[in-house]
Amino acid sequence: MIISLVKATAGPVARALTGSAARVLMYHRFSDGPDSRKLSVRLFERHLEYLTRRFRVRRLGDVVAALREGRPLEDRTVVLTIDDGYADFVTYAYPALSRYEAPATVFLVSRFLDGDLWLWFDAVHYMLTRTAATSRDVYVGGEPLRLDLSSRDARDRAWSTVGERLLRLSTGDRAAAIASLGAALDVCLPQRPTENYAAMTWDQATQMDRALIDFGSHTCTHPVLSRCGAAELAYEVRESRQLLARRLGGVIDTFAYPHGEPADVDARAVEAVKSAGYACAVVAVGGPLARRPDLLQMERVPAATDLEQFRSTVNGVEFLANKVRAWRQAAAF
Ligand SMILES: [Zn+2]
Repeated sequence: MIISLVKATAGPVARALTGSAARVLMYHRFSDGPDSRKLSVRLFERHLEYLTRRFRVRRLGDVVAALREGRPLEDRTVVLTIDDGYADFVTYAYPALSRYEAPATVFLVSRFLDGDLWLWFDAVHYMLTRTAATSRDVYVGGEPLRLDLSSRDARDRAWSTVGERLLRLSTGDRAAAIASLGAALDVCLPQRPTENYAAMTWDQATQMDRALIDFGSHTCTHPVLSRCGAAELAYEVRESRQLLARRLGGVIDTFAYPHGEPADVDARAVEAVKSAGYACAVVAVGGPLARRPDLLQMERVPAATDLEQFRSTVNGVEFLANKVRAWRQAAAF
């Protein structure tokens, strides 16, 4: 009884207490069926129904403009962002956003839209899903690794383990490691990403309603910026901006760091984004925005797939609980 009362009131109370802090939500992929790597479109619609009723869904550019000018944000401001630019955004998410008239920013990997680039983690996923092997001893980044491939869950775990190791490598070493993984697993990567891993096309991007959808840059090829050399870093950050502006028109002045965890975003990456002239850049972790956030490392809230968890996160329940914990710890000393 008490627990359900706390559960029922925690959301609205947290929302009221943290309402002045904007939330930038982060999404990636969408589907119409069960898939652990994607959000079901029915659940996404419930997110949108909840957000449009209880929050104000605003454009990232408008929120950044207000923050730059020191204007206060509207209470309960939420911004929607979707990373990478997969085809499933066009099939599932875009129609839902249109129905709810909810604006969003889509961060595009510019060369991905050409149709012949595999995002590196998808290439690994494809190989681990397609291989006939049920286990394999491999080397990733010079370290031995025993892969259990005996079930779907085991393959998912192998994907995470291999991915974690590959994140730490330079782009060249990562590409070499992926090629030797393909050889070890006896899987040949198709020239172009297959349907499950495909990007939206340039035509689809151009035809989207720009009153609803803004585009931002997510680099040219989705490298780990903290593992890039200086020339590669500058190219990924600048060239993607110019290419997207050329192909889509308008100004591209928002950026999302690939991977976006603290280890993936170093000071050089932030400096590269700043010198390329972006108005703001978002990372992949964090909570509601501070009153004066660092616009080159704006925090984002990953959108949970469980509806109750989603409501709790977006209302700021954990954020508030962490604050209370920090206050109590500070008071104890
Ligand atoms: Zn990404």
